[in-house]
Amino acid sequence: MRNQFSELFLSKGLNYAKDDMPLNSALQFFKFIPDRDLINLGKYVSEEMIESADFIDHGSKPKLQTWSILGKRIDYVRISPDHVNTLKKLLGFGVVSKSSSGEFPWLYHFISGYIISDSGLFCTLTLTAQTAYAISKYGDSSLKNQYFPFYIAGNEGWLGATYYSEIQGGSDLGSNTTIAKKSGAIWTLQGSDKYFASDAGLADGAIVTAKVKEGYGVRNIGLFFVPALNLENKPNYDIRRLKEKLGTIAVPTGEVEFKDTIAFPLGDLNKGIYYAMEVLTISRIDDALAACGIARKALWEAYLYANERTSFGKKIIEHPLLRRDFIELESELEGSLFLSIFAAKKFSDSCDEKPPYTDKYNLARLLSHLSKNIAAETSTAITRYAMEIFGGIGFFEEFPIAKFHRDAIVTSIWEGTSNIQALDMLEAILKKKIHISLYQVLNDLLENIDDEKTRERVRESVEDMKKEVNLLLSQSNVELYSKDILNMMGHMVASTLMFCISYSTDNQGDRQSLLNMAEVYYLRNVLKKGKLPEELISNADFLKWMERGN
Ligand SMILES: Cc1cc2nc3c(=O)[nH]c(=O)nc-3n(C[C@H](O)[C@H](O)[C@H](O)COP(=O)(O)OP(=O)(O)OC[C@H]3O[C@@H](n4cnc5c(N)ncnc54)[C@H](O)[C@@H]3O)c2cc1C
Repeated sequence: MRNQFSELFLSKGLNYAKDDMPLNSALQFFKFIPDRDLINLGKYVSEEMIESADFIDHGSKPKLQTWSILGKRIDYVRISPDHVNTLKKLLGFGVVSKSSSGEFPWLYHFISGYIISDSGLFCTLTLTAQTAYAISKYGDSSLKNQYFPFYIAGNEGWLGATYYSEIQGGSDLGSNTTIAKKSGAIWTLQGSDKYFASDAGLADGAIVTAKVKEGYGVRNIGLFFVPALNLENKPNYDIRRLKEKLGTIAVPTGEVEFKDTIAFPLGDLNKGIYYAMEVLTISRIDDALAACGIARKALWEAYLYANERTSFGKKIIEHPLLRRDFIELESELEGSLFLSIFAAKKFSDSCDEKPPYTDKYNLARLLSHLSKNIAAETSTAITRYAMEIFGGIGFFEEFPIAKFHRDAIVTSIWEGTSNIQALDMLEAILKKKIHISLYQVLNDLLENIDDEKTRERVRESVEDMKKEVNLLLSQSNVELYSKDILNMMGHMVASTLMFCISYSTDNQGDRQSLLNMAEVYYLRNVLKKGKLPEELISNADFLKWMERGN
């Protein structure tokens, strides 16, 4: 049978885990050794999953099936058999089960998100990982015994969802009205507007926020596990309709109505908002890494294309201006990736904590805000420019390039918009003084920069950044500057990590390439220099590692 997808997608066949030099350098720095499953996932994604994801996106989107043929209400979302198999295969790589079961740290799950990255397919897996995490950490023993094994059953595992947002409240969860009532030992939910319910109709169970007392505010929010089917095996909630979306097509996003919906409380119902935010930290870090993964695929494709396409008698990669574009985009991507992996590592190391959290967990949460915002912005910019590198054909839906941009745009919106990340970050700084821990972490990281001159230069920039942040924090209208603070701190951490990772990389060529990107990032995002030295932006050899897979 003919398969000419490689004529549409140039990076088909390379290994997104093994062939990604910056990823591997970072994992080595963080002392995380990818196992066979993660390496095989890198191959599976480029050889099979990308093609399935592209086909689902363009011609096989999920459909809501409200009724059975015998007139029974089923509220089920139909996906193609290939879509089912793709999800099963991804689950089979342990993307959810390995981290949820404790077999591997959560870093495993997050890195697999970077490799998979497809916003639709990976959203389903993120939601499933969040559900497994919440049940295993906050469910009582009977709930855990009944449902948790389903979520760590590998390729036969259950799927999950998180229904928090309502029509009047995505950012403002305190304004939501879904109410939980207890009768005897049974809790039920009533409410009609879980308005952005991703995985509805696919998920076997969902994590849901509901008020345990009426009234505005987040202190009365409880967190519940809600199975998709009730005790009589009938739909436990109604799905009103599925949304028409710009991207993330593989994951159905629906509107959910609760009517006497059976729910199981998670942990202390007075602490629901803390648990809900903790569960959200997983999806924020997933979002950051998936954003980086989408940008990587788009840039990799664009690079391979630029080595083939000619204009004015040369390959387009040989034009100095386009080479500069590539170097700048690559440096932005590496900065975002290292920052996001750092957030993932810190969460992985602190995820056994429960409220009230120590600084160890609060720091992971701070990093989740920094990385989600910076990675989402970077991904949106890189995927947009990758389309332009393909010239006019980048804009055509008959190739898989435009989809990357459609999928990247949502990363700054869902799981809390960029303003909400900045405000949540500000709250953590003002209430918990968590920026002090971040300053300490930066000081510790500096010790990994072997070259003394570079180390002292970066140290000086850290001191300058601290002064600027402290000045902004002293303003009476500090909220106005929260995004500036976020960007200053995020770029400083990313930049420092780039130097640390470069100097810890043994291979001389790779180290040189990483150092070049670190310098470009530092000049652009920390020192804010407009004119960059020519030797940093003119050498396409620093990108050559992207040719290895072919
Ligand atoms: C494809 C998709 C899938 C989704 N899936 C899910 C899901 O599965 N489960 C779920 O619970 N939710 C889901 N969501 C909802 C998503 O998390 C929310 O849309 C998002 O958090 C924003 O909330 P909102 O839409 O109510 O916007 P609003 O809160 O109304 O915000 C509108 C604008 O105002 C800004 N804003 C709001 N408050 C402030 C403030 N205090 N200061 C400054 N600016 C402010 C925001 O940044 C934004 O730009 C999904 C959304 C999308 C697009």
